Amino acid sequence: MSGRAVYGHERQREQLGAAIAGGRLAHAYLFHGRDGIGKQEVAKAFAAAVLCGKGQPTPCDACVACKKVQSGNHPDLIILKPDGAFIRMQAVRELIGAMAFRPMEGGRRLFLIDDADRLHPAAANALLKTLEEPAAANIIVLITAKPYLLPRTIISRCRQLRFQPLRRETVARFLEEQGGLEANAAHALAASAEGSIARALQLRREDYLADREGILARLAAGQVGAPLSRLALFRHLGKRKKDIPDKLTLLQSCFRDALVWRELQDREMLIHGDCLEQIRGIARLSTNDLLFNLDAIDASLRALEANANKLLTLEAMTFTLRL
Ligand SMILES: [Zn+2]
Repeated sequence: MSGRAVYGHERQREQLGAAIAGGRLAHAYLFHGRDGIGKQEVAKAFAAAVLCGKGQPTPCDACVACKKVQSGNHPDLIILKPDGAFIRMQAVRELIGAMAFRPMEGGRRLFLIDDADRLHPAAANALLKTLEEPAAANIIVLITAKPYLLPRTIISRCRQLRFQPLRRETVARFLEEQGGLEANAAHALAASAEGSIARALQLRREDYLADREGILARLAAGQVGAPLSRLALFRHLGKRKKDIPDKLTLLQSCFRDALVWRELQDREMLIHGDCLEQIRGIARLSTNDLLFNLDAIDASLRALEANANKLLTLEAMTFTLRL
């Protein structure tokens, strides 16, 4: 929970740190940005620094307050999450009730509301009232990937911090330091994770690297257009039925890389830059053929979204691809 466990978002952390050091804290914050990029971690580190009470941008990690935050039992740090589909009215009532009292330990109390877009409308209204009459000691941090689902009246009362997807190197560094991956594997996963640590971890669970290797090796091989080779590709893509859409997205990213390589020859621009040999192998296809394949995969993905039969769609597509 200390500042050290947070990856990226330097600008936002600086801004929050400056507010703590300068005594210019707002009563309500809205942290928004896509899922899995570390908004909660920044919010927890912010809460820890406020509760540490030394007026420093980062927590000291040594005092009693910091120890309590680290072990997850500081009475003035309250984290609210959805219970089922909604954050329930009862939970918000308790939160509002708690606000009437002074903080238990220090001068401040923080409420982190995760997935704040799932505040029940009645709960959102009740919360709104407290934001209109803020009690000085309380700080509310609303965290969401979908700020557009929050009532405008709530948004306008919050100091907003927008979080961007993480840089590729930041995700890779997390995977190396916290996930125990080797540098090559970490960079390969990070390249496909769209700036999200959660997405990278999900890909890791799904044997993403092994799947990718299988696809790249098959596409880059000679004779890949022969019926037997197509059948092998089809079997590889269709091995786990529920994963077919993800595999198609992966396949698409391979053709996309080959196209980028043909046009720009810039390794930095590639998603699979660590597999340059295979990407160059696929780039033997003409620009027209690569564009055709990208369209064919797009059409299949759309069909799957519309609940088409997964295996039939995949089979038809595999035998249409220009290889
Ligand atoms: Zn401290």
